[in-house]
Amino acid sequence: MGKTFDIGLGRLAGTSVSVSVPLNEAQDPPSKIEGGAPGTGEVKAAGLGDSPCATGAETFYLETFGCQMNEHDSEKVAGVLLARGYKQVESAESASVVLYNTCSIREKAAQKVFSRLGEYRFTQQEGQIIGVLGCVAQQEGEKIFSRAPWVSLVCGSASYRKLPQLLAQLEAGNRRVTGLETDTDETFETEVTRRDNPWRAYLTIIEGCDKACSYCVVPFTRGPERSRTSESILEEVRRLADAGYTEVQLLGQTVNSYADPSARKMRFSELLVAVAEVPGIRRVRFTTSHPRDFGKDIVDAIEAVPAICEHVHLPVQSGSTKVLRAMARTYTRGEYLEKVALLRVAKREISLTTDLIVGFPGETERDFEETLSLLDLAQYDGAFCFKYSPRPNTPSLKMDDAIPEEEKSRRLAILMEKQREIQRGRNERLIGQSFEVMVEGKSKKEHQWSGHTSSNKVMNFTSREQESLGDYVHVKVTAATPNSLVGEKIGMTEG
Ligand code: SF4
Repeated sequence: MGKTFDIGLGRLAGTSVSVSVPLNEAQDPPSKIEGGAPGTGEVKAAGLGDSPCATGAETFYLETFGCQMNEHDSEKVAGVLLARGYKQVESAESASVVLYNTCSIREKAAQKVFSRLGEYRFTQQEGQIIGVLGCVAQQEGEKIFSRAPWVSLVCGSASYRKLPQLLAQLEAGNRRVTGLETDTDETFETEVTRRDNPWRAYLTIIEGCDKACSYCVVPFTRGPERSRTSESILEEVRRLADAGYTEVQLLGQTVNSYADPSARKMRFSELLVAVAEVPGIRRVRFTTSHPRDFGKDIVDAIEAVPAICEHVHLPVQSGSTKVLRAMARTYTRGEYLEKVALLRVAKREISLTTDLIVGFPGETERDFEETLSLLDLAQYDGAFCFKYSPRPNTPSLKMDDAIPEEEKSRRLAILMEKQREIQRGRNERLIGQSFEVMVEGKSKKEHQWSGHTSSNKVMNFTSREQESLGDYVHVKVTAATPNSLVGEKIGMTEG
């Protein structure tokens, strides 16, 4: 559900502006606008070119489906529109522009977008612009216009820089516009980003993907890998720290495949250290890592620099080398387990999470058992488990030997139950230990708060004090469930 941000250009002028909400009462963290042209009192419209700004009466509603990358893209899209003079509203009915930032990674997600679009068939207001952004836009392209003729804008993520021009064309009377190029070396950097969380900021450091996993739409929908320069990333991190953010999450479909295009040629592990060294930054996270490009230098950086969080998300997808080959994952079971071993011998305890797919075409019972045995060896702290879902434009679509839906469901249930028990054991080991937690929410129950540890575990804790969201506290673990820790605050941590 979108949120209302009634922030005009005046609020955006100068340096970062935060929306003032009493922190202790907030259930949802307030949002921040950062960007603008510091010291000039002007807001530079992001990527506007010569396109005119909105009149001030235009409003937009933006709904996001899918992953963190999409969430962050939406923050940047919102920043672009705010910089054009649009206001964000929380209902589609009251917006002059309705945008859906879509996900097509699984069939269900794509269907959801079309069913949401279907709601507009009879209710679209006079002059209202309906736009589809993101992966479904890229995947379906102009076909969306025939399936939902009330849509007038279709734009994939590689073309977001053109959004202001596309909107200007619609405002000038064009009926339908598209931005569907993927052959680009541009990244979507904006000068104004409307961020959803005032302490944790997301930063995309690499866009697109050059891997070619046989089940995945991303190389098709997000285009080739394009990395931002280390200088522009560090400059943004410094601005974020000045604006009060203490945690940054570096994002990329394959974040550790980062390749600095500048003369500095900073490695990903060096970038992690440099980001962690920016004064004011207390936590650096990164996701998602590709096993092929995951090396000891990343583990060394985590070991050496406390601000780099002790958590790695390393999708394995299957425990069978045969299935991994069919998926074109570029590593074997043995090679993957070597990466896990690097993490397990580190001096800091590093939590490990993964993604798993069951029911890939040709996956036998034996292959599935190899996935189960991999769980025993890897001892994941968390896993996102999915049934294989065939997607358009992917090589696996044409593979024989599809696994029946019922069998996929059976395997998924077994996998999830096994992983649940592993997580229970891993979390119960932590009872009696204490961890630093960022305070992120207040429960409706009295004296109950929640946040995350550096290892990305959810901690629900008791404190009789009035905590401030965004602060860091020490919490001792008193109980554990498969998905979270329970604890008591034992003190504040040094700032
Ligand atoms: S690494 Fe594979 S699964 Fe991940 S985004 Fe690239 S193609 Fe898709």
